[in-house]
Amino acid sequence: MKRVRTLAKEAGFTESFLLPVEPYTDWTRHRNDGVFHPNADPLVSDPKETYPWANAILICVLAYTPYTDESLVASYYPASNRAYHAMKRLLEQLNAHGIRAERAETPYREQLVRHGIGSRMDNQLLYLEPYGTYIILQGAMLSLNEPVDYEPKREPKAVCDHCGRCKRVCFGAIRGDFAFDWKRCIHTYMEGEPIPEDAMEWLPSLLGCMRCQSVCPKNPKTAVPVPEPVRETLDPVRILQGNRKAAGELIGRNLAGPNRLVRQAIVLAANRKRTDALPYLLKLRETDGERFKAELDYAITLLQK
Ligand code: SF4
Ligand code: SF4
Repeated sequence: MKRVRTLAKEAGFTESFLLPVEPYTDWTRHRNDGVFHPNADPLVSDPKETYPWANAILICVLAYTPYTDESLVASYYPASNRAYHAMKRLLEQLNAHGIRAERAETPYREQLVRHGIGSRMDNQLLYLEPYGTYIILQGAMLSLNEPVDYEPKREPKAVCDHCGRCKRVCFGAIRGDFAFDWKRCIHTYMEGEPIPEDAMEWLPSLLGCMRCQSVCPKNPKTAVPVPEPVRETLDPVRILQGNRKAAGELIGRNLAGPNRLVRQAIVLAANRKRTDALPYLLKLRETDGERFKAELDYAITLLQK
């Protein structure tokens, strides 16, 4: 088991936890309360149903530091891409060491809360000492020679004091006292469909927002400047000029798909009053006007005012 955690470190993770495979009834309750996005529907509350061969769940944590200015993009996204690739490396290594391991979609946050490792917050993020909510989680199901019997090292702790700061900066998803409406989280509109007008007006940064963790007083205060390559690559006008390949290397090909990134770059260019985007927007209207109609109408009207 030590070997598994060493391999996780070598793959690039900050920390990892090996837990027994158990049903997670709290998660089912939250799902029934309507907290989760429909993407979570296929996740079963008992991972044994989907992975009958597994006797351990490995949850890996990649901690990251936020940018001093997250108005272009939250540092969460490049970190999320790093975590995805770290898990890919780790799975290869585990398999090479004779351990059956598969990337797993299970409710990691709820599993860590249940074992007293992390705390649930009003913004639905997981708080984990000492990183706060600045973490990416990746998980895998494992078949180990001996079963895992995890005893919580940390006492379950109520960290969120329901101060309401995240609720005040939110688009409308955070309702307080752990209530959450996924339909009003801005991320819901970043998945490639035309963006509703109120979400376009509100959109503060590429790929959604992470305001609810920036304002949380429980989070660490350390921050790093936005690296120049990130600033350059994800500049909305650069994206409109067609540098999505570089963006894909930074945030992952899935997030950098045109339906997502171009749509958001159109809106952000307008929200930032980037009139230098106009020639590209007008050109895009000729080549792809149907697909991006809502966003182009919004942006061109705003920039031509
Ligand atoms: S900002 Fe306040 S209410 Fe929101 S998660 Fe942090 S402590 Fe909880
Ligand atoms: S990511 Fe943005 S919209 Fe979603 S819950 Fe947090 S503050 Fe609200």
